[in-house]
Amino acid sequence: MRATSFPFALETVCIDTLDFDAVCVRLGLEVSRVRVITGQTWSKEVALVLASRVRGRRVEVLDDIDNTLAQHRSLAESNEGDASDVLVVGVGGGCVLDLAKYHACRLGAPYLAVPTIISNDGIASPIAILRGDDDQMASHSTTPPLATLIDRGVLERAPHAALVSGIGDVLSNRAAVLDWDLAIERGRATPNALARIMSRSAVQNVLGAPPNLRDDIFFERYIDAIVLSGLAMYISGDSRPCSGAEHLIAHAINRARPGRFAHGLLVGSIAPFVVWLHDRGDRSLWSLVRTLGLQVDFMRLVGATHDFASLMNAARRIRGDRFTVLDISSNEELEREYHRFVSAFSARQKRVGDASPHAAIS
Ligand SMILES: [Zn+2]
Repeated sequence: MRATSFPFALETVCIDTLDFDAVCVRLGLEVSRVRVITGQTWSKEVALVLASRVRGRRVEVLDDIDNTLAQHRSLAESNEGDASDVLVVGVGGGCVLDLAKYHACRLGAPYLAVPTIISNDGIASPIAILRGDDDQMASHSTTPPLATLIDRGVLERAPHAALVSGIGDVLSNRAAVLDWDLAIERGRATPNALARIMSRSAVQNVLGAPPNLRDDIFFERYIDAIVLSGLAMYISGDSRPCSGAEHLIAHAINRARPGRFAHGLLVGSIAPFVVWLHDRGDRSLWSLVRTLGLQVDFMRLVGATHDFASLMNAARRIRGDRFTVLDISSNEELEREYHRFVSAFSARQKRVGDASPHAAIS
């Protein structure tokens, strides 16, 4: 997954009037087949319009899909002909794009991403999260798309919760970089200055601006942030710049309560606590988290499956090789800090008089 070049394009398009051939020419693609992978609802409508814009190439639209490794195998079996002669286009949200990205990479085919909803940092990242044969979700290394096509009219139709989730995933970079710094200091990770700058810049892009996709300035900053996050992982060769203890805890919660919470909502909710563990009460982060309505007292989301200590133990087991702030504190210390953090956060919320944010997660 280590980068040797930047074969990545970001294009703003209108799918309704898309000149697909012109896109192929710009990207240097000479393929006779286009394989469109999509969902079954709104994304399928967009995919069918996109398919209608393809001229002189065979197009197939595959919509009966799920995000499993088994699905990829079945798609690979149904692919007729040379993989270098087919372009894979993912049209949809995170699950669809992850499958399309993984499928294209394993097939050895070029890949275009057309997001219809952006709820995490996956549109330009080299990571695909798929359900394995053991029924567990796992991250897989792939290559990022050759290009991501952004249709603002399409993205503006996505529910607000998707935007909150996408911002949450970006915010988690702040915690991830602190964990990365700590791991480097302890000789447990290698530095990458460019990836670190990109990850931190992504967070700066979404802080301080009202989260509204209809706002021109915010829209641009948001897309840039999501792309910066994805490419930071590509540059570093792993997910380190965007995934620290907050991701480990989120994965542990998701394993305990599968399918219950969107990824970005969860990691964005947990990130302020991880930042706090690094001795930082981050006002700008807290302010945006409050505006978004993220639930920083994340133990309320866990239910009866875990107490605090068992959740931390489960989080540490998610990726044994990922050294984070969880590895330098006992469960008792972490729990004490959690309660201190939640009290400090609520006290500040009362002080600034913003006691009724939109509840993004419950
Ligand atoms: Zn993430």
